[in-house]
Amino acid sequence: MTEIVGGPSLPQQRNLVTEIPGPASRAVLERKKTYVADGVGTTLPVFVTAAGGGVLLDADGNSLIDLGSGIAVTTVGNAAEKVVERAKAQLDAFTHTCFMVTPYDGYVDVCEALAELTPGDHPKKSALFNSGAEAVENAVKIARVHTGRDAVVVFDHAYHGRTNLTMAMTAKQMPYKHGFGPFAGEVYRAPMSYPLHDGGLSGAEAAARAIDVIEKQVGGDQVACVVIEPIQGEGGFIVPADGFLPAVAEWCRANGVVFVADEIQAGFCRTGDWFAVDHEGVVPDLVTTAKGIAGGLPLAAVTGHAEIMDAVHGGGLGGTYGGNPVACAAALGSIEEMRTHDLAARAREIGAIMQTRLDKLRADYDVIAEVRGRGAMMAIELCVPGTTQPDAARTAAVAAYCHSRGVVVLTCGTWGNVFRFLPPLSIGDDLLEEAFDVVAEAFAATA
Ligand SMILES: *Cc1c(COP(=O)(O)O)cnc(C)c1O
Repeated sequence: MTEIVGGPSLPQQRNLVTEIPGPASRAVLERKKTYVADGVGTTLPVFVTAAGGGVLLDADGNSLIDLGSGIAVTTVGNAAEKVVERAKAQLDAFTHTCFMVTPYDGYVDVCEALAELTPGDHPKKSALFNSGAEAVENAVKIARVHTGRDAVVVFDHAYHGRTNLTMAMTAKQMPYKHGFGPFAGEVYRAPMSYPLHDGGLSGAEAAARAIDVIEKQVGGDQVACVVIEPIQGEGGFIVPADGFLPAVAEWCRANGVVFVADEIQAGFCRTGDWFAVDHEGVVPDLVTTAKGIAGGLPLAAVTGHAEIMDAVHGGGLGGTYGGNPVACAAALGSIEEMRTHDLAARAREIGAIMQTRLDKLRADYDVIAEVRGRGAMMAIELCVPGTTQPDAARTAAVAAYCHSRGVVVLTCGTWGNVFRFLPPLSIGDDLLEEAFDVVAEAFAATA
């Protein structure tokens, strides 16, 4: 086997040597069509051979700029030094025992780090899982046992995963729910604070509207938990108006409802704080994390008040692979990278660069209705100029142009009209600026 080395030593450049995708990628794509289920889509079918810093290298030797981080996962960079070092050492030692059979200290170390890093200074405990959806499911299980109640409240535009319960909690029908029902019961949806589309309701007003729906249609004393993304991810990088999250959290406290912050996309330094709720000083009862936690290895967690976590009977939580030792080692490496390089500060710097570039773009192109986000989690929403009518066609055209020029951009939003920018925090300023040169070119070329 030839050794392929990615990580930070990969040359940091955008360099296209073939069309995108090139012949080598197209050949694998043909095999994908034969052997991989069609339901598994790809945004940009270049087949990756190495990645690191701010670039992805493909099978044809093209070097692309990464503004997606594999959907907010490789926050510390692909094949980041400490992630690789610790995961390799763990691979050499042992690969699995099952923590529920014969445990190992890496799992405990991750839970200890989560207790330190997540908001609030109360006693905290965690349970580890494999995916974000699994963490969300378990947060609901824990909240139900703790409260003895059934109802789960989620919001418009929410995304919480693709398993049966989390499909019920996710808002968008196509592609996430279409034909996959019947869905889990006792899931209720409240209106979100979405300043661009709710007439600019204040945070307090939007919270009052949501609370009224919950009280009138569900009943405060029936609700086990309210689950909310502090900045919504797939739904469109929707940043609720200031005051919305604190008001909803306060209502939960007053009604004995478990307030769950789904930080799976926004957490772990992405927004310029360790967690997105830190921005307004909100302390959730439970926090779900995944994506950025382990630098690319599958790991997820539910962390919260020891008292709430411990409501569950012995043996009630777990799973064969949950908190796999290699994934735990990677998480410890990822957290080490975040701490030693102060990646929350780096996210704020990257955010400032993106804000400048996107504000300029918005001044030049009136199809951009709004620039929003925080830190290295920024978005633009495209609407027919002068309206708040989504422009998904222009969004798709701009995305296609960026992809053809070697910049990996992701779209999102209920109406498919939002660009979300999620660069790895290991990207250099020059490469980031170059990526936004291409984005600007894309708006000019599709005007
Ligand atoms: C991605 C995501 C999930 C689901 O995570 P998976 O690991 O894909 O199961 C849940 N919540 C949020 C906010 C997410 O962004």
